[in-house]
Amino acid sequence: MRNNIASHPANVFKFCPRCGSNAFIFDSEKRFNCSTCGFVYYLNAATAVAVIIRLSDGRIVLTQRRFDPAAGKYDLPGGFVDMGERVEVAAVREVAEEIGITLNTDQLEFLASFPNTYEYKGVCYFTCDVAFVAHYNGTENFEANDDVQHVITVLPEAIDYDTISFDSIRNILKLYCEKYAG
Ligand SMILES: [Zn+2]
Repeated sequence: MRNNIASHPANVFKFCPRCGSNAFIFDSEKRFNCSTCGFVYYLNAATAVAVIIRLSDGRIVLTQRRFDPAAGKYDLPGGFVDMGERVEVAAVREVAEEIGITLNTDQLEFLASFPNTYEYKGVCYFTCDVAFVAHYNGTENFEANDDVQHVITVLPEAIDYDTISFDSIRNILKLYCEKYAG
């Protein structure tokens, strides 16, 4: 699906990784098939996490991205889930890596999930972004680490959606505002 995107793997992966044949064809749905050696490779959505950290006065934490895609745009703390890792553990790990605070997996409330596309070095990754809400009453000594260049706190109703990094993050924030409004 959606292999009209120039960076879709169907347009990037030209040869069978097992036998080197150029008869390595994407079926337009979800898998590559090599008609020379029979090798099959499935594309699946990569799991990612995003965390809305809600402070006691209702402000939430946004991170400004240091690198492309969407360098300079605002994002939620989060990132890709490692292989073999629970999404809750990934959420706690990414928050610690990016902004230097320690959450507990028990603090995470599932909000929703939204699909996203994430282009990195010429290849498009299809993700499923799993969103959590965490209430945080600790000190606000947020750091900007890893791929974050700046950390801000804002009231959700004051967010300028034109400055937000990705469709999935906009959807997460809009849903959060609807759910927590009033
Ligand atoms: Zn092959």
